[in-house]
Amino acid sequence: MTKGFVYLVGAGPGRADLITVRGAEILQKADCIIYDKLANPALLKFARKDAEIIHVPKRIGSGSFTQQEINKLLLEKATSGKTIVRLKGGDPGIFGRCAEEIAALIEAGIDFEIVPGVTAATAAAEYAGILLTDREFSSQVVFVTGQEAKDKEKSNIDWHLLAKFRGTIVFYMAMGNLDLIAKKLIKNSMDENTPVAVIADATFPTQKVVKAPLRLINKKCKEEKAEPPAIIIIGQAADSDARLDWFRKKPLFGKNIVVTRDDRGNAESAEKIISRGGNPIEFTTIKLKPLTNTNRFLRALAKLSEFDWTIFTSSNGVEIVFDFLRSLGKDARVFSSAKIAAIGSETAETLSRFGIKADFVPTVFTSKELGKQLVEFANLKDKKVLLLRSQIASDELAEWLKKAGAEIENVPIYRIDTIKNKCKELIEKITTDKIDWITFASSSSARAFFEQIPVDAVNSGRAKIASIGPVTSEQLRSLGIRVDVEAPEHTIDGLLGALENISKK
Ligand code: SAH
Repeated sequence: MTKGFVYLVGAGPGRADLITVRGAEILQKADCIIYDKLANPALLKFARKDAEIIHVPKRIGSGSFTQQEINKLLLEKATSGKTIVRLKGGDPGIFGRCAEEIAALIEAGIDFEIVPGVTAATAAAEYAGILLTDREFSSQVVFVTGQEAKDKEKSNIDWHLLAKFRGTIVFYMAMGNLDLIAKKLIKNSMDENTPVAVIADATFPTQKVVKAPLRLINKKCKEEKAEPPAIIIIGQAADSDARLDWFRKKPLFGKNIVVTRDDRGNAESAEKIISRGGNPIEFTTIKLKPLTNTNRFLRALAKLSEFDWTIFTSSNGVEIVFDFLRSLGKDARVFSSAKIAAIGSETAETLSRFGIKADFVPTVFTSKELGKQLVEFANLKDKKVLLLRSQIASDELAEWLKKAGAEIENVPIYRIDTIKNKCKELIEKITTDKIDWITFASSSSARAFFEQIPVDAVNSGRAKIASIGPVTSEQLRSLGIRVDVEAPEHTIDGLLGALENISKK
C-alpha cells in the first residue's frame, strides 16, 4: 500500500487567524486532520468537506487520548496512503511532544513536514503588551515547562540557575504549580518583588492578564480566577508600559455578544466580533433551504434575459442563486443585459464577488426604501422586474414597483426553517448576567430565537438587545422585547458599529 504523508502543523496560540499561510493551505488539502485540545476548532473551516476530522484531547477523563494512542492513530491513518495533518496548538516543536510522534513516523518510514506556528509565549506576551526582549534589561529569554516543578527526581530544571537568570523567564503549563514555582525561585534567592505577568486564554476575547510581584502572584491569580491555559512571564519585561496594551483597547473587548443568525451568517458575524475584540456566542436560529431546484425558479432562469431588472434583497439570496448556477456550470452571464438592484451594501458586495456590479443600491437598506428609491431612479413603466427573495418576504417592495407600472415576477429562492437548539446553557448565561448583547439580524431569527428562549429570561437580565433595522425591531417589540439599539445602517457592520458607540460611552 502507498504510504501517506504527515504534516505536523502549528495551529498558533489561540485565535484562528494566527495560523501561518502555509498551515492554512495544507489544512485545505488534508484527507484527515488529527487535532489537539489547544488547536482552535474554528480552523476546521479550512478543511475539505469530506476530510476526516479526529479530535484527540490529552488530559484526564473520558474521550481523552494518551500519547501512545495518538502515535498509533497517526500511523494507522498515514499508512493508508492519505495526507494527514497533525494540528498542534502553538508551535509543534515547543512542548508539543512532537519528537515522539516524529520518531514513530521515522520508524514506519513515513515522510513528514513540520510547519512552524506562533508559540503561546510570544503571542501571549504581545497580546498583553509585553515584549519578551529588551535592549536594556532582557537580552535572553528562556521557555520552561511548569510540569516538572513537582517532580524533583526527574526534573531537568536547574532552579538555582533559573533564580539567577538575568532576562525573561516564560513558563508553559504552570498554573497548577504556580505557588510552588514562586516559592522555589524565592528560595533560590530570586528577588520576591520580581515582576510577574500571567496571561490566561491569550489572544481570545476572554483573555485575562494578572500582574503582581513574584511573592503575591499566586494569590492574585486565585482572586482574579485566572485559569489555564496560561503563560507566566517572570522578569523586568513583565512590568510593561501600559500604553503598549493594545488588545484591551479594541472597541468590543470583553463583551459577550450572542449572534442569532443561520450557521453561515453566525460564522461571518463571529469573525467581525472577534476582530473588534469581542467574544461571540453563536446560537443558530434558522436554516435556509434553497428553493432554486423548483419549477418556478427554473422557469424564471430560462427566461432571465427577458427581464429588465432583477432584484436581490439579501446576501444569502445571492449566494444561493450563484451556488445553484455553479452546479449547472453557469455564471453571471445568465443575467445578460438585465439591470441588477441590491437591497444594501452587503448584498451588493456579495454580488460583486460573483462578478456583478449592482446598478442600484438604495441609501437606506430596507425593502421599503429599495422600492421607493428605485422607482425614482428608473422608469419602471411596463418594465419586467424579477424579485429573487425569501419565501416570506413582505409585499411592500412589490407594491411600490407595481404602483410605478412595473410587471412583477416574485420568485422565492429560499425558505427559512427554524432550528431547535440546546438552550439551557444560553438561558443560564443570560439569567446570570454573563451576556452583554443579544443581536438580531432579521425578523425570522428574532421569532425563532424567542420560540426557544423565554422572553422573561431576557427582559429580566442585564443583556441588551440590538436590532439590525426597523422591521426586525418591530418584530422584537411585538414579541414583548425592549430594543436597546437599532443599527443606523442596516448591515452587520452598522450593527456592530452601534454597539461600539454605546460601549465607548
Ligand atoms: N506547543 C504549544 C505549547 C503546548 S503546551 C505552543 O507552542 O504554544 C500547552 C501550554 O501552552 C499551556 O499549558 C499554556 O501554558 C500554553 N498555552 C497554549 N495556548 C495558550 C493560550 N491561548 N493562552 C495562554 N497560554 C497558552
